[in-house]
Amino acid sequence: MQVSAPASSPIYRVRVAVPVYLYDCFDYSLSAEQYQQAQLGARVAVSFGRQNLVGVIVEKLAPDAPIDPKIKLKAISELLDDVAILDAKVLSLLTWAAQYYQFPMGEVIQSALPTLLRQGKPYNLLARTWKLLDAHAEDKLKRSERQQEAYKILKLHPIGTSENILNLAGIETATLKALANKQICECVLEAQDFSPMPITMAQMPLTANPDQKKAIDTVLKAQKKYQAFLLDGLTGSGKTEVYLQIMQEVLKRGKQVLVLVPEIGLTPQTISRFQSRFHCNIALLHSGLTDSKRLQAWQAAQTGKASIILGTRSAILTPMPNLGLIILDEEHDLSFKQQEGFRYHARDIALYRAHLEQCPVILGSATPSIDSYALVQNGKMTSLELNQRAGLALMPKIHVLDLKVAQKQHGISQVLLDEIKKRLDKKEQVLVFLNRRGYAPVLICDSCAWQAKCPHCDANFTVHRTPYQHLHCHHCGTVHRMPDHCPQCANTELKPIGMGTAKVEENLNEMFPNYEVIRVDRDSTSRVGSWQKIYDKIQKSEPAILLGTQMLAKGHHFPYVTLVAILDIDSGLLSVDFRATERTAQLVVQVSGRAGRGERKGDVYLQTLRPDHPLLNTLVQEDYRQFAKQTLKERQIALMPPFRYAALIRCESKDQNLNTDFLQQHAQFLRQSSENTIDIWGPIPAPMERKAGRYQSHMVLLSTDRARLHFFIRHWWQNMLHQKPSSMKLSLDIDPQELS
Ligand code: ADP
Ligand code: ZN
Ligand code: ZN
Repeated sequence: MQVSAPASSPIYRVRVAVPVYLYDCFDYSLSAEQYQQAQLGARVAVSFGRQNLVGVIVEKLAPDAPIDPKIKLKAISELLDDVAILDAKVLSLLTWAAQYYQFPMGEVIQSALPTLLRQGKPYNLLARTWKLLDAHAEDKLKRSERQQEAYKILKLHPIGTSENILNLAGIETATLKALANKQICECVLEAQDFSPMPITMAQMPLTANPDQKKAIDTVLKAQKKYQAFLLDGLTGSGKTEVYLQIMQEVLKRGKQVLVLVPEIGLTPQTISRFQSRFHCNIALLHSGLTDSKRLQAWQAAQTGKASIILGTRSAILTPMPNLGLIILDEEHDLSFKQQEGFRYHARDIALYRAHLEQCPVILGSATPSIDSYALVQNGKMTSLELNQRAGLALMPKIHVLDLKVAQKQHGISQVLLDEIKKRLDKKEQVLVFLNRRGYAPVLICDSCAWQAKCPHCDANFTVHRTPYQHLHCHHCGTVHRMPDHCPQCANTELKPIGMGTAKVEENLNEMFPNYEVIRVDRDSTSRVGSWQKIYDKIQKSEPAILLGTQMLAKGHHFPYVTLVAILDIDSGLLSVDFRATERTAQLVVQVSGRAGRGERKGDVYLQTLRPDHPLLNTLVQEDYRQFAKQTLKERQIALMPPFRYAALIRCESKDQNLNTDFLQQHAQFLRQSSENTIDIWGPIPAPMERKAGRYQSHMVLLSTDRARLHFFIRHWWQNMLHQKPSSMKLSLDIDPQELS
C-alpha cells in the first residue's frame, strides 16, 4: 500500500529491523493510534517483498521528519506487542554488536529472540498448569509407581502446579496425561506469575581459603560498577565456590546473575550446585530445550522472575532488567564464539554488556585465553589467582612417553598399559582421552595404498562400525557404504588405519576384560539423557576406564580418576594455525585436570611422536601460566592477535580461480585506499581447500589500530557484498578464533 498524505498532515512512521540479510532497517507507516502505542523493542508484522516477516521497532520517527519521495512507504500489518520485549539496554547492546561485527541488525535481533517470538507467536503465553480433580484416587493407581508419585505431588498443591515445575521434579508429561485420561487431574492454561521468588540460602558456604577469600573480597568491592576480572585458578582450585559466594551477595541485593557456560553437558551439574546452595528461581537457557520451554525461561529472565540465569553462548543477548553480575566460566572455550552467521564472541559481548549495565564481570578458567591475559597485561582486567587445589587434592604430574621408541600394543605404549592395570587393580578409575570419534580415521588398501576419500572434500573418510559398518565424512556429513574391495586394484584386503574412540574401546575391552569401559563421545551420547546416565556411573567409586573425546575434558569433577592417558595430540602440535598451540596447551591441562581431584594424587601420561616439542617441555617442566607468558611474548614480537586486530574474509564458490581473482582485486583496492596501514594476507586457499564440493579461499586483514581497521571494513565490506557474483558466498569474521 502506498501512502500519499497531503504535505500538511503528519505521517507516522517507525523504523523496523527485519530479519533479512540486508544492512538497512526499513521505515513503515502506521496509524496515529498505533504510533501512540508503538514501543521501541516491540515486534511488528510487516510485509517485505513477497514475504510476511516479524520485525522489531528500533526507532519511532518524528511525524514531521522529512520523507524520501522515492521510497514507497508500506504500512505495518500489525503491532504484535503492546510492550517492549527488548528493553533499551539490550537494544543498544545489539546495535553495538551489529556495528562491531558488521552484521545486519535485523539478523542480530533475531538471535536475541526465542524461536516462538521470532515466529510472531504471542508474548503472553499461558503456562500449562496441572490440577487435581479426584483427591481419593489411591486405589486407581496401584500398578504404576510413576503415577503414584505424580499424584502425591499434585495432592500437595491444591491450587495446581505448573508443568515446568513438575518436569523439574522428575514427573514426565506423559505420566500426567495418563492421570488425566483416568479423570484424576486436568491441564488448564493459566497466566504465568512473573514475580521473583524470595531468595534463601539452602546450604552454608564453605570456609573460603585465603586465595578464595581475596578473590571474593576484591570482586565484592566493585559490586556496583563496571570492572572486569580474570579468575585464573588451577583445575579444582574452587572457582565455583568463589562464584557462589559472590553471587550470594549480589542476589541479596535483589539483582540478577547471569552465568554462562560452554556446553549443555555442563549445565545439569552446575545447576544442581546452584540449586543446592540457593533457593531461588533459576532459568536455564540452552539449545537443548523445546521452543516453549525456552520461551518460558527467556521470559523468566526478561521479566526479572528468575534470579539466576544459566545459559550457553546466546544467553548473553537476553534482556534482564536487574542484571548485577556476569560470570563466564571456562572462558577459554571456543564454543563461546559463534562460528557461522552472526559470528559474535560471547566473551567480548559480556565485557561490553557489563560496561553498559555498570556491573562486574568475571571470566574464569584454569587455562585462560591469551586474549584475556593480554587484557590483564594492559590493565583492562584485574587478575585473581587461585594457586592451590581446594581441600587436600594435589596437582597431577605429567609424564611424556616417546611413541617412536615405545613398545606398544594396539597403538598404546606398554608403560601406559601397565599403569592403567595398576590403577584398576587398586579399584581406581582411569580416563583415556582421544579427540577422534569413530573407529578409524583412514581406510587403506593393503596392496596399492588407495585411501577412501570423501568425493566432496579434501579429506579422508572415517570408518565407523556402529550401528553398522560405514564410511562417514566428518566435514560434510556424507555417508557411504563400506567398500568390499579396492576400487583401484580390486584387492579385498582393506585396512582401517589409526585409531578412533570406537576402536580404542574395542581394544581396551579385549585387554581389560574384567573392567567396564565407558565411552563418551558424540556418537555415544547423542540420545537425550544418556550423558546423565554415563555421568552417574562415573560418580560411583567403582574401577572403570572412561574413554572419550573433548566432551570428557571440560570442567567435570571425577573424584575417582587417578590416571589420565592422552593418546594423541600430535595434530595439535603440528597445526599451522597460530592459535593451535594455545588450544593444545589448554586441552592438555584441562584433560590432565581431571586426574587426582579426590584424595589420591593423580598422574598424567601423554604419548607423542614429538616428545621434544617446546610446548610439552614448558607444560611438563613449568606450567600453563609460564606457557601463556611465553606465548604472549611471541605474539607480541610477531604482531599477532591480540597485539594486532584481525578480520577474516572467507570466500566460497565452485571455482577457486573466481575466488582468488575476486579477493585479489579487493585486496589491491584496500591496500591503496588504506595507504598500506592494513596488512593483508592472501588470498590463500583455506586449510581444507575443498569442502562439500565447494572451494574455500581466505583473506586476513590485520592492523594495530582497531578503529582504523573497522573503519575500512565498514566502508568496504558492504561494497564487496554488492559486487560479488551470486554463486559466491562471502563471510566476514571479526576477531576470528580459527583461521580455518
Ligand atoms: P574448579 O571449578 O576450580 O575446578 P571446584 O569449584 O569444582 O573447582 O572445586 C573442586 C572441589 O573442591 C569441589 O569438590 C569443592 O566442593 C571443593 N572446595 C572448593 N572450595 C573449597 C573450600 N574452601 N574448602 C573445602 N573444599 C572446597
Ligand atoms: Zn588397491
Ligand atoms: Zn566430505
